[in-house]
Amino acid sequence: MFLLRALIAAAITTILYHIPVRDLRQLLKFTTGIIDGAAVISNLDSTYESHDKFPPKKTPEHFDFVIVGASPSGSVLANRLSEINGWKILLLEAGGDPTGLAEVPLVVATLYPTTYNWGTHAEPQPGFCSGCLDKGARYGHGKGLGGGSIINFMIFVRGNEGDYNKWEEMGNPGWGYRDLLPYFRKLEDASNVTLKDSEYRGRGGPLGVSDVPFRTKLTDVYINAAQQAGFSYVDYNGKQQIGVSHMQTTLRNGMRSNAENSYLRPIRQRTNLKIRTGAYVTKILIRPDTKEAYGVEYKKSGKMYTVVAKKEVILSAGGLNSPKILMLSGVGPKSHLEEIGKMLVGFVFSSLEYSFSIREKLQK
Ligand SMILES: Cc1cc2nc3c(=O)[nH]c(=O)nc-3n(C[C@H](O)[C@H](O)[C@H](O)COP(=O)(O)OP(=O)(O)OC[C@H]3O[C@@H](n4cnc5c(N)ncnc54)[C@H](O)[C@@H]3O)c2cc1C
Repeated sequence: MFLLRALIAAAITTILYHIPVRDLRQLLKFTTGIIDGAAVISNLDSTYESHDKFPPKKTPEHFDFVIVGASPSGSVLANRLSEINGWKILLLEAGGDPTGLAEVPLVVATLYPTTYNWGTHAEPQPGFCSGCLDKGARYGHGKGLGGGSIINFMIFVRGNEGDYNKWEEMGNPGWGYRDLLPYFRKLEDASNVTLKDSEYRGRGGPLGVSDVPFRTKLTDVYINAAQQAGFSYVDYNGKQQIGVSHMQTTLRNGMRSNAENSYLRPIRQRTNLKIRTGAYVTKILIRPDTKEAYGVEYKKSGKMYTVVAKKEVILSAGGLNSPKILMLSGVGPKSHLEEIGKMLVGFVFSSLEYSFSIREKLQK
């Protein structure tokens, strides 16, 4: 397989060298085609599926936990739950293995128009995005092991203490900043952050966090100006979050740290964890009497499969796709579900009310 890849890479380089590129848009289209093609090739022998005998001999398969979406949250859960030997975990991800480009800062921008991004466009709305070609915003969200963390901008900010405390006050015990701090410390390896508030920061965790190694003179001018205006120079992931600072990023030794290389890659050989890529979940199965989720339906290589979760189904498919999967399963805004009700079987009405309007470029 290595030889095949090397040959393909050599062929691509030769073609690229000989093609006359007339404009940038053409170059972008061409690069996108190459990356998408390489993604197909690299997923032919996904190292994640080496100990997963797929398709299963008997269906439905049974697992203790079924996790939908290898997002940052799904990846952490797959890692932590599979620490318990006696539990069997299945992680289903619609995308594939991330390409090596996902670990190269800046170059990662070439992944936005590719298969590693769901490519969702927002509907045009009055007053927004007037400068965009189709008057609608592009809503990037990552597709592949690691979710958004394989294409994101690496800015490492924990969020403000007051927000977490407000969530707790709203009736969510355990979500206050003091409760979360041990986990924030545990997840990071901030050894390469120069100014750090040690009481608040972690070392040796899976996610690499570093100062940006390259700083322009303009940044220093900006920081100096802010300090002269009275702002202190702070570790904004520490006790004092208001001030001025250089950026902290999810980098380790100059490479991008993401959920896949931090949480999944180191444990992919665990035999109690199956990680299935190209597995598109279409529905959560819910018992009509108890309203409990007991499994999911998903599509892989053109075929539908059912899997049963003995303990829990965990939905971690991101801010757009999680509610979408819930609605496809009959959970969502009652009026909307009633409107399209004829298409749905086994309704679970809920009073959940929210609205959004999107158009997906890539319908699967
Ligand atoms: C371009 C960009 C830049 C960003 N920059 C930053 C930044 O600098 N700093 C920062 O902190 N955050 C940044 N973010 C945000 C950050 O990446 C997200 O907040 C984070 O990834 C969200 O995680 P999530 O757990 O909600 O799910 P997601 O990351 O959205 O992951 C969802 C996963 O579920 C999978 N999935 C979806 N539907 C299905 C289905 N039906 N079946 C199976 N699998 C499915 C998806 O393919 C994906 O892998 C950025 C995001 C983007 C897109």
